[in-house]
Amino acid sequence: MPALAEVLTALDALWPPERAEEWDAVGTVCGDPDRPVTRVLFAVDPVLDIADEAVRLDADLLITHHPLYLRGTTTVAASTSKGRVVHTLIKHDIALHVAHTNADRADPGVSDALAGALDLRVTAPLVPDPSDPAGRRGLGRICELDAPLSLAAFGERVAERLPRTAQGVRIAGDPERTIRTVAVCGGSGDGLFDAVRAAGVDAYVTADLRHHPASEARERREPTASGQLALVDAAHWATEWPWTEQAAAQLDEISDRNGWGLRTHISRTVTDPWTAHAPSPAPARTL
Ligand SMILES: [Zn+2]
Repeated sequence: MPALAEVLTALDALWPPERAEEWDAVGTVCGDPDRPVTRVLFAVDPVLDIADEAVRLDADLLITHHPLYLRGTTTVAASTSKGRVVHTLIKHDIALHVAHTNADRADPGVSDALAGALDLRVTAPLVPDPSDPAGRRGLGRICELDAPLSLAAFGERVAERLPRTAQGVRIAGDPERTIRTVAVCGGSGDGLFDAVRAAGVDAYVTADLRHHPASEARERREPTASGQLALVDAAHWATEWPWTEQAAAQLDEISDRNGWGLRTHISRTVTDPWTAHAPSPAPARTL
């Protein structure tokens, strides 16, 4: 079985830390490089429920998409929620490693996993990484459907294929509109609307869309576009969860190649912060 340091070298080759955004905090949060690794748990969020799951599993390494500490801290006291995570992990000899925007930009990356979960064929990155001559790395992905669907049917597909959350899926647009091309971005995709418009796609699947950017994107009609951009907004956690399956498969392959015998696990604990959804009564009442 490999030492943590060997596994981390392999992870850094998959998701080079220097490709993360400048503001990001990726890499190893805690862990002894000399400790052996057998069990690895993948999850989106390094929250206490996930740390407890890693303990129950007897994991040696927890790999999450979101950072534990995005900004600096002066305390890891167990009286703080994040400090409690650190204490839980260290007490049980569990390392924590983060692959965030470096995993977003990778090939394959977080949005490739989202496209795969939705049965979409990726044609290009939405915002290509200029340092990639192959043109495969970057933020978001532009995709095609194998066969056109109405927006209503496509929205149902997104709701069915992504893991279940309280939020479900919000849709903006004419339900009869035909969807042939889609841009996807796992996580908060508010910032990529210019690229989405430039791509001329029929729909945009992402998370955390706020009122004004969504409203402006819906109001705008490009002269060459086939119509208004349709929006499909899923829970942030749900759009990034497919990456955990993809990442675990990548590490399995490395483990097989090296004869490491790692056992990888994927957390199915829903860590989306929203826990319930109260639909407006039907028929819709006027205010
Ligand atoms: Zn995220």
